[in-house]
Amino acid sequence: MALNWLRETITLTLVFSGVALAITWLGVILVPPSEAQGVLRPTSEIPLKALLLLTLGLSIGAAASLAARRLNLSFIVSGGILTLLLDLDHLPSAFKIPQPIRPAHSIIFLIAVSAIVYLSTRKVTLATLSAAAFFAHLGSDKSFYPLLSPIVFDITTFGPEVSLSLVLLAYALAFITGQLEKKALATSSQH
Ligand SMILES: [Zn+2]
Repeated sequence: MALNWLRETITLTLVFSGVALAITWLGVILVPPSEAQGVLRPTSEIPLKALLLLTLGLSIGAAASLAARRLNLSFIVSGGILTLLLDLDHLPSAFKIPQPIRPAHSIIFLIAVSAIVYLSTRKVTLATLSAAAFFAHLGSDKSFYPLLSPIVFDITTFGPEVSLSLVLLAYALAFITGQLEKKALATSSQH
């Protein structure tokens, strides 16, 4: 059906946002008040950052689509949306609720979201695309992350070379996503 891509994109967006918000909420509950210090960037800077994330994410999705050698609107649109939506973990700050720094910018979020996307869609490609969006987002942020949030909230800081490596890793995962999709299409057309 022509609108399959839209259904897939909506499912992926809901699952990704749900996991991001769940981890964020766990962060709000579990972080000791003395450590709750995540803040929102100045409102005037948000549109530019959002545009950067959206553009980067769309290009990740386009890379996956290109690698699949077929126009895949679900990859392209989801790539943009997911890369942007990782910052849903700043939401408590927007409502003046004390929260830890970037609770979903963590390896635990990555593992949880990849697993739940796969379990709910049964598509490895959507799990690898979600991981690509995650790494692209991290690569575009200043490189300090609570890698084990929401269990431990210690922040790990890296140099700019790590940011660049994360963006490259995101494109590599996008390429793998496209290759897997191409393979899946070839297999299904043989049946
Ligand atoms: Zn971020």
